[in-house]
Amino acid sequence: MAPSPPFFPIIRTPSHTRISTPREVRVGGLDCEHDVLVELTREGNEVGLVIPSLAHAHLHLDKCSILDRCNLLTGDFNEALRVTNAAKAAFKHDPDDLYKRGESLICGSVECGVTSIRAHVEVDEAVGLLCVETGLQLSEAFQEVCDVQVAAFAQEPLFVGSSTEPGENYALLVRALEKHANKIKVVGSAPYVEPSIAQAKLNIGLVLDLAIKHHLHADFHLDYNLDPSSEPLIHTVISEAKRRAWPSELGIAIGHATRLQLFIPAEWEALGAATGNLPITLIGLPQSDMYMMGRSAFDAPLGAPRGTLRVPQLASRHGIHAAMAVNNVQNAFTPQGSLDPLALCTLGVALFQSATPADLRELLRAVTLTAKQAVAEPRVHKDLTLAVGDPADLLVLHGTPDVATAVLNPGLDRTTIRAGVVVARRRVSRWIAGTR
Ligand SMILES: [Zn+2]
Repeated sequence: MAPSPPFFPIIRTPSHTRISTPREVRVGGLDCEHDVLVELTREGNEVGLVIPSLAHAHLHLDKCSILDRCNLLTGDFNEALRVTNAAKAAFKHDPDDLYKRGESLICGSVECGVTSIRAHVEVDEAVGLLCVETGLQLSEAFQEVCDVQVAAFAQEPLFVGSSTEPGENYALLVRALEKHANKIKVVGSAPYVEPSIAQAKLNIGLVLDLAIKHHLHADFHLDYNLDPSSEPLIHTVISEAKRRAWPSELGIAIGHATRLQLFIPAEWEALGAATGNLPITLIGLPQSDMYMMGRSAFDAPLGAPRGTLRVPQLASRHGIHAAMAVNNVQNAFTPQGSLDPLALCTLGVALFQSATPADLRELLRAVTLTAKQAVAEPRVHKDLTLAVGDPADLLVLHGTPDVATAVLNPGLDRTTIRAGVVVARRRVSRWIAGTR
């Protein structure tokens, strides 16, 4: 797919234009021309805000928009796994539908201001390599518009029964990585689905081995519970990565990690010390975590707890910068919510009771800078305020005057710029009876 032509013709591909006199937009120097950004932010005679573009650090490309095929009776996690597996088994009968749902997800994301996506696509006996290969087609189709980084992901167990020998799902994962060695960028799994903790630990080791062998980033759905008696397996990831002399250029992303929210300060400190220089990043998935976690407390006076990583507090109290991501759109794991990463920031204000200027900026970082660092995106801004040498991957929020508003009540009118080129624009059309 070719990008739409720039609607301001003087925006151009990276030219390292250096502008040293910031005016209305907070630009120190960009690959986009400064005057163009000024015009963009003034569009419609309203002042707008330019921020680093958004990223989906964790998004399931294949199992989006299938809620209408999932009959929810309890809404719990086991049911979600079961009905999703049934829906997945039908993917092979309609590959065009699989492609179109993914295409729609990417288009909608770019409209929101996303220029970078880590796209999880599943590999198992139900779907074979179909989701991976569709994900790779989409990644290629959108290469001029958005970085779609394909993560071959084992949502299903790698082990069968009590066996300690990996089964067919693992064999398929290996096949996917060998067949598409130079195109798949990430390998991931969900160790918590294994029948036992011992097998979950073996799952972690197998995935780290595959990552090193094929020079891929690793990505785990991990510690997805609120059980204080459960062993946090992030420590296994750390020890196994160290045992393998983990290459520093490969990232390790940990999604969910809700169990960690039960940590006392000393445990956070110990985690930081154990992590050391390993490139591990936590990714909170609040829309999914809040929907799924804490269901055993349903009848408690206040119901389920806030079972998700507390992003602003992790930064202010422990110096840990966690990303936030949408995870799923319209499926049994996450029926609600939009695909707009900025909606997570708005949710986070209430969820984390965070509206100080410092917290608002941390929430915005979680879907921009930190999200890009989590997926090892090579082009990352120094901070939210643009500076000389920053990449021209930008989002213009029309009618949004400042960072606080971008988090508290972000506007829908947006222009997305990737590598200095406008790749999407969205304007809301308004009409009210009796007005002009
Ligand atoms: Zn996920």
